[in-house]
Amino acid sequence: MRRFFLFAFLNALLGVSGCHRTIWERYGEGLSLEIENRGGVPEAYTSYLSRDYAAYAPDPEHPGYTPFKRLRVNVHFVNSRDSSMNFNGQEGIEEGRRLIQNMNTLLHDNRKPYLPKGNTLPALPLRFDLQLTPRPDDPTDSTGIYFHYDDELYAYIAYGKDRNRSDRRVIDRYGVQLDTVLNIFVLGFHKDSLLSPTYKKTAVGIALGRALKINSWKHLGGGCWGSAKLSVHELGHILGLSHSWRGNDGCDDTPNHPNCWSCSEPPPCDSLCSNNVMDYNTYQNSWTPCQIGKVHYYFSSLNARQRRFLEPNWCHWDEQKTLILRDSVHWQSSRDLGGDVVVASGAVLYISRSRISMPPGGRIEVFPGGTLILEDCLLHNSCGKQWDGIFVAKSGKKTGKVIRRGDVRIVDVELKR
Ligand SMILES: [Zn+2]
Repeated sequence: MRRFFLFAFLNALLGVSGCHRTIWERYGEGLSLEIENRGGVPEAYTSYLSRDYAAYAPDPEHPGYTPFKRLRVNVHFVNSRDSSMNFNGQEGIEEGRRLIQNMNTLLHDNRKPYLPKGNTLPALPLRFDLQLTPRPDDPTDSTGIYFHYDDELYAYIAYGKDRNRSDRRVIDRYGVQLDTVLNIFVLGFHKDSLLSPTYKKTAVGIALGRALKINSWKHLGGGCWGSAKLSVHELGHILGLSHSWRGNDGCDDTPNHPNCWSCSEPPPCDSLCSNNVMDYNTYQNSWTPCQIGKVHYYFSSLNARQRRFLEPNWCHWDEQKTLILRDSVHWQSSRDLGGDVVVASGAVLYISRSRISMPPGGRIEVFPGGTLILEDCLLHNSCGKQWDGIFVAKSGKKTGKVIRRGDVRIVDVELKR
């Protein structure tokens, strides 16, 4: 029923009315092999898939073209058995929530890059954030925040002969939903370290594939905000980004530089300081278009580890996520859409070298005078369900147009109506 009102509304909005009746037809119906409903992803599509990260960066004019993603996370406070080396109880729950809130504040507030000097790169929206995620089937787990008391594993020892930075035992012992939820482990300082008058307390962290480890801000001057910045840097590693001050990180918009801590240091730092999230600096508040694109490239790669952390919010049809295209758009990157796509009169949607997932029951509508160009692409449903296909409208002498080039597959279409 909702769809009927949407149709009526769009017809009025897009000027399809007057003396001609609008006739909608499903594209490919009646033509053999035009559409397939046998399901599954054809292997061939990966050969033409675009790996140009910049093509995956959100469009600032149309952020909805890159659907917002939520990454599932949980937080573990690992403490000594006497509970003195980390947060506990209600305070711990609030601190865990504060960490995720602060990380989200950073993810929602991307800044323009300082480097290269004089650049005109935009501060694009990241189009993802974090969601604390408890175990779904456990009524005793309402927070996704856990406390462990373990004298063997509570301490994060970053330096020296007992260092355990990359030790995964704490993850193996206490990890929760490791395949689908990014586990953030907050470890204490070692008691003996804090007793030593020469010990220098610094914030440290490491990304270990399915989890990240940081040390607790309970004993750090930078508080939760400093730890959130560090955690976002480690999150960047989890999402596939490399350090950007040296070597080649796969992005042209992250030049090499001396990796200064701040712009107030002596030359060359006054002119070559960076605020990039993947450098070591006091700001860590900037993601370049290519870095954001790289993150979304992995999010949209069906077999990528990063994709498994995402809440599959594209697996149900949502009217609010309808995309109405009114001008020319070229999608050269894969995406998982949560609503219908409407190609209005005069608009051209050109889809190439990509995989587009339409939501269950979703459809692409091409209005009279609108054009859909499909070139080397796969249109399917990535949730194992079926969508409605492409519908083309005719009104008087004006029709919607669909042009196909190269290897185009339209699968997972629900054929019975
Ligand atoms: Zn790093």
